[in-house]
Amino acid sequence: MKSATRKNLSDKKPASGSKSTRASNALPVQSTLSRIHKPDDVTLEEWQRTLRRQFGEKQNFSVVNVGLHPLFSDFVLTNPQSGRTYKIAIRGAAPGLNYCSCPDYSINNLGTCKHIEFTLQKLRQEQGAEKQLTEGGYTPPYSEIYLSYGLKREIRFRPGLGASAEWVALAK
Ligand SMILES: [Zn+2]
Repeated sequence: MKSATRKNLSDKKPASGSKSTRASNALPVQSTLSRIHKPDDVTLEEWQRTLRRQFGEKQNFSVVNVGLHPLFSDFVLTNPQSGRTYKIAIRGAAPGLNYCSCPDYSINNLGTCKHIEFTLQKLRQEQGAEKQLTEGGYTPPYSEIYLSYGLKREIRFRPGLGASAEWVALAK
């Protein structure tokens, strides 16, 4: 019979570093994706969007709502480090709905950027904002024709308040 003498606590490896106990108050559960290697279980676009979200959420941008609606509005974002300012339009949580005037946004085909992600994260802190942003129930006071920046760039129409039924049907 095999002796059981080795069955002890030895499968608990001693912590290799001297990092001490940071497990309990470490970062939130959401793990940080690698910037270098795409994880197998996400698409390239999702990975790149997540990187921008993770980066954006750590920034110290200042953002000012220059429109009329508390969420679905136009914003001016300033990066205090570079001094650069960008125009942002927020229309919902989904990629491609929003707009930013930065160079990354115009070429990355992701429909988002770190500035948009930063702004969305700020807005989500308001009560009920997440629901409104996600459900996309936004109706602008005026009809808009806009360019959707996804993998496929498309001109889209968003009917505003008072748009006739025909126009609303066109937007479907
Ligand atoms: Zn941007």
